[in-house]
Amino acid sequence: MGGAASVVVDLVPIESSDLQISASPNVEEAFSIILRNNLFHRFCGGGKLQSMVMMPKILIAGAGVTGALCAHILKRDLQHKIELVIWEKARGPGGRMSTSRKSDNSQCSVDLGAQYITVTPQYAESHKRYHEELISNGVLVPFEGRIEGSKESEPGTLNFVTPNGSSSIVKHFLQTSGATVDYQHHLSKLEAANVHESTQPEIPSVKMFLDTLSDDTAVKPATTEKGTRIKIVANPQEERAAGSQHDEVFDAVILTMPTGQVLQQKGLVQEALAKNALMKSHLQSVRYSSRYALGLFYKPGTALDLPWCARYVQGDPCIRWISADVKKRGADAGSLGPSLVVHTSVPFGIQHLEADKDEIQRVIMQHLYQLLPDLPEPAEVKCLRWRYSQVTTPYEGNPGCIFLARLPTYAVVAAGDAFTHSNLDGCISSAETTCERLVEYFTETNQLKRECDKLEMEHGAEA
Ligand SMILES: Cc1cc2nc3c(=O)[nH]c(=O)nc-3n(C[C@H](O)[C@H](O)[C@H](O)COP(=O)(O)OP(=O)(O)OC[C@H]3O[C@@H](n4cnc5c(N)ncnc54)[C@H](O)[C@@H]3O)c2cc1C
Repeated sequence: MGGAASVVVDLVPIESSDLQISASPNVEEAFSIILRNNLFHRFCGGGKLQSMVMMPKILIAGAGVTGALCAHILKRDLQHKIELVIWEKARGPGGRMSTSRKSDNSQCSVDLGAQYITVTPQYAESHKRYHEELISNGVLVPFEGRIEGSKESEPGTLNFVTPNGSSSIVKHFLQTSGATVDYQHHLSKLEAANVHESTQPEIPSVKMFLDTLSDDTAVKPATTEKGTRIKIVANPQEERAAGSQHDEVFDAVILTMPTGQVLQQKGLVQEALAKNALMKSHLQSVRYSSRYALGLFYKPGTALDLPWCARYVQGDPCIRWISADVKKRGADAGSLGPSLVVHTSVPFGIQHLEADKDEIQRVIMQHLYQLLPDLPEPAEVKCLRWRYSQVTTPYEGNPGCIFLARLPTYAVVAAGDAFTHSNLDGCISSAETTCERLVEYFTETNQLKRECDKLEMEHGAEA
């Protein structure tokens, strides 16, 4: 890679929508680097010189609804001007909008996390575009069934359900973003690193070209030597899974996991928290409820014969919520078989948080049979522990998101329901704020755009 410093590309606009590459002894090499790395669109924006922006590469950690919405909004608003990578530690999307499937029939599923979507009149107005998108695509349909024991809600409030499970909300926003998700990718450490040949062999050669055009009057990025920049390396070498070849280098990272898991991130996050005791204490003050969820699958043809679709249980020390899940979604249980979801109360969840899951499942089933003595034997039971269920004490001031680090060349943002409140609209608010603030950040710090403008001025006369 020693020869990379000699790669110089001269981009000359020959038409408003075209580019010519010339005047370099190593031009073929430079061009092939750009093409090989699929950097041409990243390098040249929409094809016009004035829209040439080095695309910021953003890592979204978490493919829950906040992460999916961030991807959707960033792609909607910035399109080809950014590059998105999503890492999700689980094997599928959803997070707390989790849909669990029966072992022998993936068509049979239950929502172990979010149960239904409540839309207040205020959010019906301010988040209309998101709700309408989900409704028009059949992801959300009105909740027609009866919920026993539910509290009186504000007039005009509407409830919706997801015919294909709550994870279909997350899948929809991931799909519309066009971003791919790297599953079973567990982010554990972010490190500020001088990006150079040894970490990303090809890309710096293109960066070097741009660096040669740097404007001394502009705000300088943190640059340690010509052609190198301080960026974020996610899961540096010692954290990487065996077999993974390269460090992944990013301009910004959005952390969407619950704050308890943000606090466990190593490297940059710990450095940021050590410098900002107030932010650390606010993060530590965020509180979540904890609970267990059971999903019960029944054989096709089993009759459950319940007078409600869902029920808030009063007075039981263990169970708080039961839903006839297939019926709740308005689906026909006939060919699939009915299903039930049971959520424990929060005090029960907290008291038994570290208990053995099999033992807890047995205790919950006992309580369920006391409440519904005629319940038939399920064909399969799934049990999930929600250590972080719903936010009970959000981050001070409900800011929507916070910047853990905001430097000229990289940013780390924490987002999610901890910074608003725990439901779909809380996550939409957080994602909107996060994306607005990131766009502001890139606008303020995008020195490469200025460099491209300068290039345009220099070559404008030749066009
Ligand atoms: C039992 C329960 C019932 C609920 N009921 C409702 C309801 O009826 N209606 C409603 O609107 N809301 C409900 N909620 C709340 C709603 O589900 C959440 O507010 C929402 O799903 C939070 O989304 P999020 O993307 O912010 O976080 P999460 O869904 O927690 O997403 C974070 C993602 O990050 C991943 N992750 C974590 N650490 C890492 C890492 N180190 N590297 C990579 N990935 C990582 C996780 O696997 C997860 O997928 C309920 C929640 C629960 C648990």
